Amino acid sequence: MAGEGSCGKTVDAGARLARSGIWAEAWAQIDAPDGMVNIAYEGLDRHVLHGHGSELALIWLGKDGVRVEYSFADLAAQTSRFAGVLTDYGLKEGDSVFSLMGRIPELYITALGTLKAGLVFTPLFSAFGPEPIRTRMEIGNARVLVTTEALYKRKIEPLRASLPSLELVLITGNEAPEGCTALGPALAAASPDIAVANTTPETPALIHFTSGTTGKPKGAVHVHQAVVYHAYSGRKALDLTPGTIYWCTADPGWVTGTSYGIIAPLVNRATMIVVEAEFDLERWYETIQREKVEVWYTAPTAIRMMMRAGAKAAMPYDFSSLRFMASVGEPLNPEAVIWSEKVFGQPFHDNWWQTETGGIMIANRPGMTVKPGSMGKPLPGVEASIVDNEASNLREAGENEIGELALRPGWPSMMRSYIHEQARYDKCFADGWYLSGDLAMRDADGYFWFVGRADDLIKSSGHLIGPFEVESALIEHPAIAEAGVIGIPDETAGEVVKAYVTLNPDFAPSDTLERDIRGHARKKLGAAVAPREIIFRKSLPKTRSGKIMRRLLKARELGLPEGDISTLETDES
Ligand code: ATP
Ligand code: MG
Repeated sequence: MAGEGSCGKTVDAGARLARSGIWAEAWAQIDAPDGMVNIAYEGLDRHVLHGHGSELALIWLGKDGVRVEYSFADLAAQTSRFAGVLTDYGLKEGDSVFSLMGRIPELYITALGTLKAGLVFTPLFSAFGPEPIRTRMEIGNARVLVTTEALYKRKIEPLRASLPSLELVLITGNEAPEGCTALGPALAAASPDIAVANTTPETPALIHFTSGTTGKPKGAVHVHQAVVYHAYSGRKALDLTPGTIYWCTADPGWVTGTSYGIIAPLVNRATMIVVEAEFDLERWYETIQREKVEVWYTAPTAIRMMMRAGAKAAMPYDFSSLRFMASVGEPLNPEAVIWSEKVFGQPFHDNWWQTETGGIMIANRPGMTVKPGSMGKPLPGVEASIVDNEASNLREAGENEIGELALRPGWPSMMRSYIHEQARYDKCFADGWYLSGDLAMRDADGYFWFVGRADDLIKSSGHLIGPFEVESALIEHPAIAEAGVIGIPDETAGEVVKAYVTLNPDFAPSDTLERDIRGHARKKLGAAVAPREIIFRKSLPKTRSGKIMRRLLKARELGLPEGDISTLETDES
């Protein structure tokens, strides 16, 4: 699947390099004989073979208060049965299995069973509407879908005729509507000891769609050797060790929920907590206390909701089990780092990566000094830099200079292509660098600081303004819960800053409040950078993975077409 365009060479070189130096050490930590490697084997069967089958792999906390434990042996057996269902059906390497489910145990069995069978797995958010589901299944050429009866009836049945590649629809439980197969009896009839497929390091394993924050989502293809990096980064960046009670709050509908919500914990023999329900403050705090969560991986959007509820709401709970807390997905405002230190006795550790990179690239690792507002430093083995790609020649930027965040390909979990979009993929590479599309700076200590998406940068009276800096200053104001900042055209300045904000409880929109916020921003940022205008909103437009969609705020502001909004979640003016 390696690209054939101008950067095909880069990626092949990457795949080769992934066996040398630090990656050779990482390979040695997994159990990949004769050039074969399989993610599901590394996460489950390997532990069973080494005598750890009875240890807990997954604790599932259902919406209605049900709690179910799965050992490594349980999951190894169930995923083998599921792999058996797929191979009995006649699927073969390269065939594509999709899931459309909430965070229920069948989702995890589907993911790992598909990988064990050597097929390609693609998870979809259960909350997606029919159109985003249809386009993704069409792009990924889905032959199989695993879903629930309710989701099938509501979302799949009406569009099934428009999905000619979809042959087998498996429905969780013991009964299935016409044209579908019930998963329960199929699993019961399948053999529990199917052989793991002979997947190689380069066998395609997963297609993950990007969040769609900046435009039409891309389908990033990942291969089985990614597991080497998930094992490595799980240890280095999240401190996962055998037996660690670990909770990743992300849904497998986006990459964090798979790389670090399934693969990294299992391969490191940690116990993963899976909570079916969406964000619910009390339920979350209770989960940490009751399950004695040790490592917690979440996102800024959730952290800002905790902050909005206030430190008082956290007081009744015992968080003493927590030894490491991390955040990803969006920039983590310094205010959130400082707040978490007060409430949990330790900071959230920000880390940066993308669907494309498959794993954490830059992080505030355990034991590192946290500089609030910084994403941390590249993991050992990851070569990251800030480059200026505007001029005719790509040039590495100096200290504290804003430029595009770039990575040297060569780590094992790098994407291998954007499915059916070779040209878009090729554009990601220049001069031997992978270009992230994000702007950042590196300081004298080697810490990286996020500035904004390349598309979101604001140019005002000769200043370059990153929306993150302005948003972080705004949420230091006691009234503000969240902020999204864009640049709007201005005759004299080129662009000026405009901010959309949501308020904390106990605050209501008013002219006085707007004046006060603008005064606060001017004091913090200076008149050139402070927003000229503040708009109060009930919520900000966000993707399903919790990212503020600034491009949508801007398109509306300018009366332009909204573009692809297939991943849009909340949005109330
Ligand atoms: P699309 O590529 O479709 O526009 P997306 O980039 O949001 O969507 P993801 O791959 O889910 O899709 O998200 C990766 C992006 O999220 C990064 O490129 C970056 O912009 C942002 N991001 C992730 N972690 C951080 C972080 N710690 N700090 C700042 N930004 C982050
Ligand atoms: Mg992106």
